[in-house]
Amino acid sequence: MSAHDGLDPAQSGVGDMDIEAFRRHGHMVVDWIADYLGSIDDRPVLSPLAPGEVRNALPTAPPDDPEPFPRIMADLDRVILPGITHWNHPSFHAYFAITGAGPGILGEALTAALNVNGMLWRTSPSATEVEQLVVDWLRQLLGMGPSWSGLLTDGASTSTLLALAAARERTDLDVRQRGLAGRPDLPALRVYTSEQAHSSVEKAAIALGLGRDGVRTIAVDDRYRLRPDALAAAIEEDLRFGFRPVAIVTTIGTTATTSVDPLEAIADVRDAAVAELGHPIWLHVDGAYGAALAICEEHRSLLDGIERADSLVINPHKWLFTPIDCSVLLLRETQALSTAFSLVPDYLATDDGEVTDLMDLGVQLGRRFRALKLWMTLRYFGADGLRRRLREHVRQAARVAAWVERHPALELVLRPEMSTVVFRLRAGDDGATGEAESAAALTAVDERSRRLLRWLDEDGRILLSGTVLDGRHVLRLALGNLRTTDDHLQRAFAAIDDALAAVPSR
Ligand SMILES: *Cc1c(COP(=O)(O)O)cnc(C)c1O
Repeated sequence: MSAHDGLDPAQSGVGDMDIEAFRRHGHMVVDWIADYLGSIDDRPVLSPLAPGEVRNALPTAPPDDPEPFPRIMADLDRVILPGITHWNHPSFHAYFAITGAGPGILGEALTAALNVNGMLWRTSPSATEVEQLVVDWLRQLLGMGPSWSGLLTDGASTSTLLALAAARERTDLDVRQRGLAGRPDLPALRVYTSEQAHSSVEKAAIALGLGRDGVRTIAVDDRYRLRPDALAAAIEEDLRFGFRPVAIVTTIGTTATTSVDPLEAIADVRDAAVAELGHPIWLHVDGAYGAALAICEEHRSLLDGIERADSLVINPHKWLFTPIDCSVLLLRETQALSTAFSLVPDYLATDDGEVTDLMDLGVQLGRRFRALKLWMTLRYFGADGLRRRLREHVRQAARVAAWVERHPALELVLRPEMSTVVFRLRAGDDGATGEAESAAALTAVDERSRRLLRWLDEDGRILLSGTVLDGRHVLRLALGNLRTTDDHLQRAFAAIDDALAAVPSR
């Protein structure tokens, strides 16, 4: 067989894949995706490979000569798939369970085909206008006022970074022009968020020159919600010592426990601090995962107080079934973003009049037509269809919680409000009496909890994740995949029971 067997006619020339070859390979890829999604249940959720195995199975240097497309696809099965942890698997219950659903998968293909760079309105009016449209659709679904608008980013971390950059610019410190370094005139800047907030808040502070010390973490209550009284005390103390509060970040659906910070009470604290300080303090809401649930009327109260906030991030790639990456940043006044970021070099100047050039709203210049997959997802399922699916995940979480409650070896850490169940191993009645002994017993329980997770990883039927709360190891079972059925919940219960039986309590 010669090296050229199976090559497409155009492959050894200077052009792109020819159209008929594209059609053939495209059908092959669509069939591959359908087969993958149709048989995903049979795969171990977590990739069983050891570090380096994927690299070692592939040539170290790029090929000099063209390779037949079917041969490349064969390596997808042979090498790539074993190295995939299947986030689209119905038994993926780790972190937050997500779905890259059909309409969005196809939308991604169309985005690649159009290959639009939507940096300016004129570089593809549809990219800008559909993006603005889907952001507005989400605003409506969340019941927020008409002044809110925004943009799409790759993830909540970027969205929060942009929001905090706008917050920093809202101060009168002219950081955009003069920077932060070498300025004895500047007070130290502070951002406040809860102990349970996502690490993206600190990362944003790192990137924005506030530093990790610029983030003051606030204590939470017994349901892991930011305590407004502790926030007020922290700001009060900081003002006495000359710090400048710049922003408060609250969370709707914290990463560990899906807890919801009391937004109204926090806005009250903010307003009181602003009155004392005489400067604005930005209120950013991180609803990356949990804000999606507010599209259901019975959960609308999750957003109570939102009209007093300055910005909200929600990730359709988390709980609105859109393929990664898709985050929406909404601002009460989008202009705050262009104030922070707009910078137009001569080679990008236009005279298109009253249009939005999305490059003005963030760090990115070139940007993909990310809105297409979200637009297709929202249309394909419809608002009622999305609500039906969210309610199903809430129902599934309640079912898992009820199972945990009945289980002699397990206990709920808190009742799930959304679609993630947080639970832990019950500390057994092992006769421990003294405090030191019971501390040792808890350490042993935590150690078993970690070993249980590792056992489940290797077993492959389901994937859970863990975290630490109040010094104790806890397990998280997340729902959010559209292919998860009650049978998969049974599978999870069986796998956890098997793990408990297989991992002795020492
Ligand atoms: C997942 C998550 C983030 C980070 O999201 P990315 O899109 O991965 O950057 C931020 N905040 C919360 C509450 C999250 O759950």
